[in-house]
Amino acid sequence: MQSLIVFSQFRWDFALRRPQHLMTRLARDFRVFYFEEPVYDPRGAWLEIRVPAPNVHVCRPHTRVPERGFADAQMPVLAELLENLISSHDLGTPVVWLYTPWALPLLQRLDAKTIVYDCIEEPAAPGEAARELAAREHSLLKLADLVFTGGPSLFRQKQALHENVHNLPSSVDKDHFAAVGPGIDHAEQATMAHPRFGFFGVIDQRFEPVSVSLLADAHPEWQIVLVGPVANIDLRTLPRRPNIHYMGERPYAELPQFISGWDVCLLPFAVNAATRFVSPAKVLEYMAAGKPIVATALPDVVEPFGHIVHVGRHAQSFVSACERALGEPAALREKRAAMMRNVVKATSWDATAEKMLSLVDEVAHRQQKRRAPVAPALARPTDHRRAIVLGAGPAGLSTAYHLGKESLLLEQHDRVGGSCRSFEEGGFVFDHGGHAMRSNDPYVLEMYAMLGGASAKARGGLQALMNGFLPQLRGQLRLQARVARVLPSKHLVVLSDGTSCVYDKLVSTVPLPALVDLLGEEAPTRVRRASSDLRHESARWVHLGLAPGTELQVPALDFEPQGLLRRVVVLEGPALALEIAYSRREPLPSDADALVDRCIAECQRLGLFESDGSVVARHQFDLPFARVLLEPGQQEPVELIRHWLRARDIELAGEFAEWRTDPEHVFLAGKHAAERVEDALSRKLRPATPRPSVAHAMSAGAIERHPSSTS
Ligand SMILES: Cc1cc2nc3c(=O)[nH]c(=O)nc-3n(C[C@H](O)[C@H](O)[C@H](O)COP(=O)(O)OP(=O)(O)OC[C@H]3O[C@@H](n4cnc5c(N)ncnc54)[C@H](O)[C@@H]3O)c2cc1C
Repeated sequence: MQSLIVFSQFRWDFALRRPQHLMTRLARDFRVFYFEEPVYDPRGAWLEIRVPAPNVHVCRPHTRVPERGFADAQMPVLAELLENLISSHDLGTPVVWLYTPWALPLLQRLDAKTIVYDCIEEPAAPGEAARELAAREHSLLKLADLVFTGGPSLFRQKQALHENVHNLPSSVDKDHFAAVGPGIDHAEQATMAHPRFGFFGVIDQRFEPVSVSLLADAHPEWQIVLVGPVANIDLRTLPRRPNIHYMGERPYAELPQFISGWDVCLLPFAVNAATRFVSPAKVLEYMAAGKPIVATALPDVVEPFGHIVHVGRHAQSFVSACERALGEPAALREKRAAMMRNVVKATSWDATAEKMLSLVDEVAHRQQKRRAPVAPALARPTDHRRAIVLGAGPAGLSTAYHLGKESLLLEQHDRVGGSCRSFEEGGFVFDHGGHAMRSNDPYVLEMYAMLGGASAKARGGLQALMNGFLPQLRGQLRLQARVARVLPSKHLVVLSDGTSCVYDKLVSTVPLPALVDLLGEEAPTRVRRASSDLRHESARWVHLGLAPGTELQVPALDFEPQGLLRRVVVLEGPALALEIAYSRREPLPSDADALVDRCIAECQRLGLFESDGSVVARHQFDLPFARVLLEPGQQEPVELIRHWLRARDIELAGEFAEWRTDPEHVFLAGKHAAERVEDALSRKLRPATPRPSVAHAMSAGAIERHPSSTS
């Protein structure tokens, strides 16, 4: 599943707004990482990650830097935390989504696939900082592939500055706010007299206190209820009257109960430069509740809804508008209510999120803009190789090993092994994905022996086996070398650091859809369409290290229970490897620690072990590509892509690169890809270099350090 990183000045837990509504919906298609502004922590830098909703990771940086927000002084620390997040969660080339231009410098640390600027308020900063902020927004608009605006005023403004701007005003959770009616009232206002005028939202510098105090003074018998947190303003500036009731911040779930008991809803926003572009979402929420609305003359309320809401252009006329709204004849009131219902019917957060998603997809496909490193790299390729291998998992390692000295192996991580890496946790060595890597093929067994066999695996897990390739590679290996683009027309790969390299033949071991993404607009529509037809399943492996002597009650060493866990594998230690399947349509039920807790509870429910105190180490690995889903007879899209690539000197090796449901052993896949490359090169260019075989290498004494054994 693709990743989406959001940089936001809005705290996830503070008032439910557009970002939370959108991200919880986009999380059906993306792994969302919501990166908040940092908080001060004298203990030092760390990233707090919570999962408040399926597939949504709220990342709160803690730093020792006193400056607030995405300040420049924070950037070095934030960049490091971000890089760790990217590598620990395998974020690949994420879609990056910004709510604030202040976060712009962090984009340099990302290999963004698509950059989205969701502009819902005019960025504002005091004094000197205003100029810097304007410059950053200008740069962001240059970089962004897509700009969304939250209202007509912002739309008109940004449209002049970017070619791909879409006005997608905030929407409404209509069922939530339609839960009003006679008899429903919040307990804390239930004894309050009518008529009641209510407002909910953040009470900050945009709030207009004069209109509210005038209203309270003009009608001391009317009650004014203000629900919401007070932020960024001096509490003393707020009007205090016996008939003004501040309820403080309340959960989203309670808002309908408050509205239900109000006679008129208020939008008392100050009308000034700071609110020139404000488009309050609550106007739709009030409409969903079907209540009369009185607003100050905010342009983005008056323009679309001036015929539905009562508008008071200054404080005194705000009071008259409230009187009109309250005393409006039933027929006129019903006419407005019908118009409100039509507005609400025509909008939904689901539809807004869906529209955004399709625009993001469209951009990804068109790949209109090229990221910075590509252009200079095109001008100066730095290297030329006979064969380049993309990815140093087992398939890439095997390919490079068989290709010999003229190969260049490129790997994005800082070590080899790909999905066969291992991680140490609490004295346990956990293999990524619990791969068995068994085979009866004599050549594969020979290779296992060359790599150190069972003794290596017993020492350091699959990682030790994969590291066994290192002394055998005669070509060059570059780690932390993420390929950002592949340009078949120029036989060129471009790395995210801006360097590039020309190849005669390329072998890709990255999953096929990811390779098609790397081709950008060089891939014709039919190839991209075929790629989007490919279906797969992802898996999360949770590993639990258990206290010595823990008694396991398991039906078999490898079994498939019903429910959350698709597969349970018993490991030495004792330890358990648990597989949880997920997909685009069926995301993980929870993530991070919450998921591990759920797995432990599930193990106890299944009776595998008794006390959760038995768990002394926990670790999880994500396998975004865990299973190819391909119905029999549905080979056409794969064949189409493979033919197109082969005609452009690109070979595929490995289960996910070749998109096979019947994969051959990954070592053989690498060997066969190397043979195809050598054959093609010998036909095209010159006689092939003799390929090393395991037997040859062994007889040459190249592996004397590894005792011969099989696994
Ligand atoms: C439980 C389990 C048991 C298994 N048992 C067996 C078995 O017994 N025998 C068998 O043959 N197979 C087995 N498999 C399957 C096998 O493990 C996988 O097919 C194999 O690990 C995939 O290796 P790979 O090299 O093809 O891909 P990966 O290991 O995914 O390697 C791809 C590499 O490409 C790198 N990469 C990706 N994008 C970029 C980029 N843009 N730039 C640079 N580098 C990039 C990645 O970082 C990664 O290192 C098993 C799988 C599972 C889940």
